[in-house]
Amino acid sequence: MNLKHTYKLRLEQPGRSRYLGLLALALATTATAEQVTSGGVIRDDRAGDWVSHGRTHSEQRFSPLEEITTDNIDRLGLSWYIDLPEKRSLQATPLVVDGIMYFTISQSIVYAVDALTGETIWVYDPQVAERLRDTKGVGTGWGHNRGVAFHEGKIYVGTTDGRLIAIDADSGRMVWSATTFPPGTPYSISGAPRVIGDKVVIGNGGAEHGPVRGYVTAYDADTGRQLWRFYTVPGNPADGFENTAMREAAQTWSGEWWTFGGGGNVWNAITTDPKYNRIYIGTGNGSPWNQSVRSPGGGDNLFLSSIVALDAESGNYLWHYQTTPAENWDFNSAMDIVLAELDIEGAMREVILHAPKNGFFYVLDRETGRLLSAEKFGKVTWADRVDGDTGRPVENPEARNPGGEVLMWPGPFGAHNWHSMSFNPDTGLVYIPTIEVPGYYDARGISADTFKPGEFQFLTGYRALEKDVPAGAGSSGLLAWDPAQQTGVWHQALRGVWNGGTVTTAGGLVFHGTGDGFLHGYDAENGERLWSFDAGLGISAAPISYAVNGQQFISVLVGWGGGSFMGTSLLAEYGWQYGKQQRRLLTFALDGDQSLPVVPASTSVSTLAKVSDGVDSIDVESAKRGSALYAVTCAMCHGGAAVPSGGAPDLRSSTIASTAESLQALLHSGPLQSAGMPAFPELKPSQIVDLYWYIRSRARDSMASSGR
Ligand code: CA
Repeated sequence: MNLKHTYKLRLEQPGRSRYLGLLALALATTATAEQVTSGGVIRDDRAGDWVSHGRTHSEQRFSPLEEITTDNIDRLGLSWYIDLPEKRSLQATPLVVDGIMYFTISQSIVYAVDALTGETIWVYDPQVAERLRDTKGVGTGWGHNRGVAFHEGKIYVGTTDGRLIAIDADSGRMVWSATTFPPGTPYSISGAPRVIGDKVVIGNGGAEHGPVRGYVTAYDADTGRQLWRFYTVPGNPADGFENTAMREAAQTWSGEWWTFGGGGNVWNAITTDPKYNRIYIGTGNGSPWNQSVRSPGGGDNLFLSSIVALDAESGNYLWHYQTTPAENWDFNSAMDIVLAELDIEGAMREVILHAPKNGFFYVLDRETGRLLSAEKFGKVTWADRVDGDTGRPVENPEARNPGGEVLMWPGPFGAHNWHSMSFNPDTGLVYIPTIEVPGYYDARGISADTFKPGEFQFLTGYRALEKDVPAGAGSSGLLAWDPAQQTGVWHQALRGVWNGGTVTTAGGLVFHGTGDGFLHGYDAENGERLWSFDAGLGISAAPISYAVNGQQFISVLVGWGGGSFMGTSLLAEYGWQYGKQQRRLLTFALDGDQSLPVVPASTSVSTLAKVSDGVDSIDVESAKRGSALYAVTCAMCHGGAAVPSGGAPDLRSSTIASTAESLQALLHSGPLQSAGMPAFPELKPSQIVDLYWYIRSRARDSMASSGR
């Protein structure tokens, strides 16, 4: 491990070129890479590394490092930081392999930096915006990316436009590229690939972008050759089924579900299990959400909202556990799947821990997938409990109300979203970033017969969600949960509802970044907040801990956002603006003595800038039509109800949207396509006028911004 830095110092003597220094780093990486994994299995004894998305195969996000403790955390300070050329949300969990850190920013751009100093070694840009320039694909989530995978000298990244790319970890040059879906289709990739054995596995997202059928694909890690693909929902029976699992799953669907794609996308959770040579995938919600549209005769709709165990060698189905049968509310099961050993009633059990959107915390037997227990970890009104005998939720009959409007907990944000939880084997506790926000589901007048592609219902099967949740209904927290006892142990109430993921350490700590711009350190046992750092911008990503030369570090990407689709004012307006506050990677160590530059108050937290639009009164009827159009056309990136969440500029203060003429010029000719703004030539001038009036009305409604 120390070898690398010895080489580097020797070669960077005066007279040597910087290139040689980098070459030495590269050689050192190659020399030690095979020690990181053994036969494709990540070694648990390399405490200083963070080799996979959740650190090791277990996805526990537990660091065995113990230099930083509850006793000395007051000495924790900023060691180094990097300013990143990024305007949007940063969501990645960095990897650290042998002193080199690898992470992504938006548009699947990969960085390799020296984990001791932050010095950039290489940057790989897969030119996503360029490839999507003439397609709507550029608008599917704005290219957020949650990170990379590592295997024997290669880094793997999934791109928004559908490629899985292997990069030489030393040089930053592409080794191979595989197409996992054609660019311009409703699919997108935001999740991190995973490696098991000599295979690299990637899924995709897109259930809210159009008709998609979810799947995962395994590729040869060396060559990029496709080895197998597993679809999560059945296709058109007339085309024949790929396997027995699909044939049986089709029995749980009705109508012409395949015309809607079905959904079930594996957009986040993939857990690899070398012991059984398996992977566990967390599948997505239905597409569209409303089951009475998607599968009018009901049925469980397998394998939506499930954990599915697959044989890593063949991709064959082994077992599944469905958390939300007949999914109807965007309750996907794409939240992290954690492998752990728990003492349950006096016996050590190998288990799977899972806290999906639907608000129940599940403990499954790792080998068989059998439910051991499930309890509510937040406010849940859609079901009373999970029946221990059948393993099925006991639904509240009011939760499915095709004839009316339902206000339900949780809402589409879920009680827990993609922000990673962590498990500490020392405390036996899971640290979950929780969300407590209800949602309205309004299916009045909507059925498979009246369903109109191209309208908001096409994405969700519900009426445009114009209603905000009741005042005071939204909250969030950091919850320490005892999975063996299925009970909460401590809870920290937090502002807003959209906070980052967690990491926990053998030093007895939990680190968690928040939407209002702080990184906090807690005592893992009792939840006491021991340390805080003002990051100057909200945090969505999860921190990691790693070591170089025996010194422990904590790192986190700072760049709030990513919850823009289902807009609600509860996303909180802290004043974070698209591109305004500096996006960064921050790294902390004991006695770190760096500080962030002091920024003028005008850019640190900004209230909504007033744009002079010369408007005396709003055309209310036009704005109303614009509201529904906005929800399907703009909300994905610019935020529901025009309240942005870091994905794209705030239209309320956009000068382009201050006149209908300039808005039409932008939408029709697409001058900002290379910056990620797609063209919408299909919009009629009258529709653009409707959008204009909606944006102007929202600019007036929300001039009173709450601030940080
Ligand atoms: Ca979804």
